[in-house]
Amino acid sequence: MFELIKNSYKIIFVGRPNVGKSTLFNRLLNYRKALVHNKPGVTRDRVEAQTNWMVKGNKFPVLLVDTGGIGGEYFKDEIIKQIRFSISSADLILLLFDAQTGLTPSDQIVLQQVRESIGDSKRHIPIVGVVNKVDVEVHEALLFDFYSTGLNSIVTVSAEHGRGIEDLKLELYNKMISCPVTILPECSDHIEHIPKITIVGRPNVGKSTFINALLNENRMITSSIPGTTIDSVDSLVKIDNKPYLVIDTAGIRKKSKTKQGVEVLSVVLAQKALERSDLAILLLDGETGITTQDEKIAAIIEKHGCSVILAVNKWDTQKRNFKFTKMHAATRVRDEMKFLKYAPIVFMSALEKQGFETLGNLIEKILKERKKKISTHVFTEWIRTEATVHNPKNAKFFMCHQTGSHPPSFACHVNDPTKIDSSLNGYFMNSMRKRWGFTGSPIRLYFIKHHHVKSRFAVNV
Ligand code: GDP
Ligand code: GDP
Repeated sequence: MFELIKNSYKIIFVGRPNVGKSTLFNRLLNYRKALVHNKPGVTRDRVEAQTNWMVKGNKFPVLLVDTGGIGGEYFKDEIIKQIRFSISSADLILLLFDAQTGLTPSDQIVLQQVRESIGDSKRHIPIVGVVNKVDVEVHEALLFDFYSTGLNSIVTVSAEHGRGIEDLKLELYNKMISCPVTILPECSDHIEHIPKITIVGRPNVGKSTFINALLNENRMITSSIPGTTIDSVDSLVKIDNKPYLVIDTAGIRKKSKTKQGVEVLSVVLAQKALERSDLAILLLDGETGITTQDEKIAAIIEKHGCSVILAVNKWDTQKRNFKFTKMHAATRVRDEMKFLKYAPIVFMSALEKQGFETLGNLIEKILKERKKKISTHVFTEWIRTEATVHNPKNAKFFMCHQTGSHPPSFACHVNDPTKIDSSLNGYFMNSMRKRWGFTGSPIRLYFIKHHHVKSRFAVNV
């Protein structure tokens, strides 16, 4: 049901420090970032950039990932971990060497690490060797040295002077087109139109397990060194054949040592992700129940106007608990999260990959209803009719219209907004859900004082 899709070929830059990875990375992107330095072992953030190359008249979308150098004295283990993690999802590895130093024992170690990582990933990932700093001419004898590594694809370049760059792109292109990767060309151009789904929940509810079950790959990375942790990872995922950008907020856990710190950070991170999402899947723990932390995250979802699915995870732990049924659990969720009563509840076990079957349909339905547009005429007539049924303070309605879809929002012009009390507001909300659904989405209803507009041509006498 779930399938990971790609909008570009992921190329990972690996090599010991100072071989010129940053320089080549910038060169291949056609820009210079202030990342180049000549101090071996200086660590830096993992840098990713997406670009399109033109090769043989074809658009070639690539995601370049520059890693820290293996072999530096700083953060060695962390960097190796990161590189292994990067390699697990790579389409191609670009392994850099330095022509001016020749093949060194460190290069051999790097190559061995790369080969082990490929072995662990159980996938065929091609390696292209790049001998850098060939600024003037190629010495055959020197290349012979690099071929002794057993790599059959080696290109010489000068990243600094731009030598051999087009040949390198061609080599990468030729290697890639023979690779079994699904590229959806429509995705790379229209990524902003793909619905965004954030997976949120307090620590330990099972976000990573769920994401891994969706993606079927291990994407957690653990690190306590600032700058080496990925805050949130976006993945393009096909669910029931439809593309979605899934935003994972799980990586935060390892950033803070205290329980309290973790909880605060998970809220901050959830907030950042929700700002750019259409839908949130809020994971709840079916084993331990709802806490105030869950309610806090739920309130943030509602505040950002995201649509929401409440997913009670770890339901496998209740399988033999006949006294506590799905109905009991749902009642409890409704009681404790009254303000999200429009959110569908699903039960699942991320661990056993159960309860996902209907998720694709539900997501599609919610996003479709969220986009519904109601015409001003229809909405005004509808409000006026409803106001004849329930309207304790006899408010008078003028033009009522939809003002937006993220989330569905409406403005109603009334003679006196103080005549709209919570019972009338609640009545309209319930009736709107009955009439138009908007399943899973918050609805915003604003009541604005109506002003009689005088005609511009009216003459005061
Ligand atoms: P990294 O540690 O592998 O990312 O290496 P950098 O990109 O930071 O480069 C290390 C040093 O090598 C810098 O001083 C660069 O200017 C230098 N360098 C990079 N590419 C070339 C090249 O093609 N020729 C020469 N001569 N120097 C280069
Ligand atoms: P996260 O902090 O939200 O990313 O949570 P994790 O995915 O790391 O899960 C926390 C713990 O809950 C791990 O020990 C998981 O194995 C466990 N877990 C996750 N999902 C389930 C589930 O569906 N059933 C059970 N029984 N355990 C689960």
